[in-house]
Amino acid sequence: MAKVQTTRTGLPLDRKARLRIPPHHVTKQTPHDRIHNWDEVYYGYTAGPAMFEAQRCIQCPAAPCTKACPIDNDIPGALAFLEVGKLAEAAGVFRETSEMPELCGRLCPQEALCEGVCVVGKKAKPVAIGKLEAFLGDWDRGQRGGFPVPRPQQETGQRVAVVGSGPAGLAAAEALRGAGHRVTVFEAWPAGGGVLRYGIPNFKSAKDIVDEKIEALRAAGVEFRFETRVGRDVTWEELEGWDAVFLGHGAGAGKRLRLEGEGLAFVYSATEFLVRANLPAVELPASMGSRPEAEGKRVVVVGGGDTSMDCVRSAIRLGASEVTLLYRRSENEMQGRLEERMHAREEGVNFEYLTTPVQLLGKDGRVCGVECVRMTLGEPDESGRRRPIPQAGSEFVLDADTVVVAVGYDVGRELYEGSGIDVNDWGEVLVDEGGRTSRPGVFAGGDNVRGADLVVTALNGAHQAIPTMRGWLAERRAEGTLLAAG
Ligand SMILES: Cc1cc2nc3c(=O)[nH]c(=O)nc-3n(C[C@H](O)[C@H](O)[C@H](O)COP(=O)(O)OP(=O)(O)OC[C@H]3O[C@@H](n4cnc5c(N)ncnc54)[C@H](O)[C@@H]3O)c2cc1C
Repeated sequence: MAKVQTTRTGLPLDRKARLRIPPHHVTKQTPHDRIHNWDEVYYGYTAGPAMFEAQRCIQCPAAPCTKACPIDNDIPGALAFLEVGKLAEAAGVFRETSEMPELCGRLCPQEALCEGVCVVGKKAKPVAIGKLEAFLGDWDRGQRGGFPVPRPQQETGQRVAVVGSGPAGLAAAEALRGAGHRVTVFEAWPAGGGVLRYGIPNFKSAKDIVDEKIEALRAAGVEFRFETRVGRDVTWEELEGWDAVFLGHGAGAGKRLRLEGEGLAFVYSATEFLVRANLPAVELPASMGSRPEAEGKRVVVVGGGDTSMDCVRSAIRLGASEVTLLYRRSENEMQGRLEERMHAREEGVNFEYLTTPVQLLGKDGRVCGVECVRMTLGEPDESGRRRPIPQAGSEFVLDADTVVVAVGYDVGRELYEGSGIDVNDWGEVLVDEGGRTSRPGVFAGGDNVRGADLVVTALNGAHQAIPTMRGWLAERRAEGTLLAAG
């Protein structure tokens, strides 16, 4: 008699029957409602529908979803627990490989990662892995009253400096504090979280999750020094006294258009626009303490990635009378998430594809319009996408009261002065596979190594450096013991 296949938790595994289970969609705010608030668009799963949705996973032995996940989340393992209602165990599986599943579940471009390779997706809608992960993370935190953060069994007395409190810095701080080191996180902004706080709008992920994470780390003994920029407020000589340093300073330098008129009033960088729109004044430097000028205004956003989508959708919520996105290629070449574009369209954003600004026009020192030119697409360029070519004689002027420049990010270079750290032409830190930089005892991971990327790849960068850092610190302790023994 043929043996009945079962899941890891003992449920019968009839793959054909599972493929017939209809998707359990997660509900979300209507466009009409959500443009009047800053709350998350999705309401998220509750336990019952999440368990049904998890049953759609056919538990592929090869687990392509896990292979596509930059941090190797054991997705079938977690969903096998979830479908039988073992929620704590399911959340535990995600937490084994991720310090923030509730954020990855909300923010990862799952269609290009786990859900993009989900075998169920070949016949039907892929399993809603991201939203299930977010549900489990939220449920678990709710049960425990906060983030579970490992507490050290023993103190080593060694001091570790972490530069930057984005996902990479927080993941490094969590692991190194858990290993018993005295961890201090230096952060240039007035509060922690990196782009999770100072970039990603509230309608994509609520800030209270970031607050809870910082609080849990603080309670575990991590020290945070905010409004402290390494390279300016703390010198490399001062860091000499530390046993190890992790650089997680991200890629936060907004690229410029380099066009005439960019210095006019009410021309914002994407970060300034987003943080002033999304954060309370107390979390901002004094110079940024008010909302950006957008209510009742015509707002033009330049750029074609997720950041530009965050800007247009924030402008809508600020009450702009008209919001237009300019992108120099066609929608086919856009790199951001389709879902974000769909949300922006539903919320009333105008898309001007194959259009680029050539000059920002001003009156009395403030921006009043954008001179644009239409583009056609030529042969693919070094990015693999078709090169935009200006169409002679197609110039036109778009009236604008506010312009937001969202054309990408570089790694800031201020930190490296006098550091002896090797970087490439773009300022990205050069590291080996264990996150070691060219300066002994200094490690790095995240956007500062990869260039502007994703939350989950930043976590992966920290994961690569953490074991190497622990090895380095263990060697220093052993040397210290030998010296002491004389
Ligand atoms: C607007 C926006 C939206 C995004 N949306 C998504 C999304 O939906 N999904 C997704 O996966 N990714 C998204 N990303 C990308 C993602 O947020 C980043 O890839 C990720 O945050 C990188 O993490 P990190 O830890 O390397 O750096 P960051 O998050 O950038 O954190 C670096 C921190 O270091 C601090 N710092 C820098 N220099 C110094 C210094 N000298 N001294 C002290 N502190 C310093 C910075 O202030 C910052 O807080 C988005 C990015 C932006 C800008």
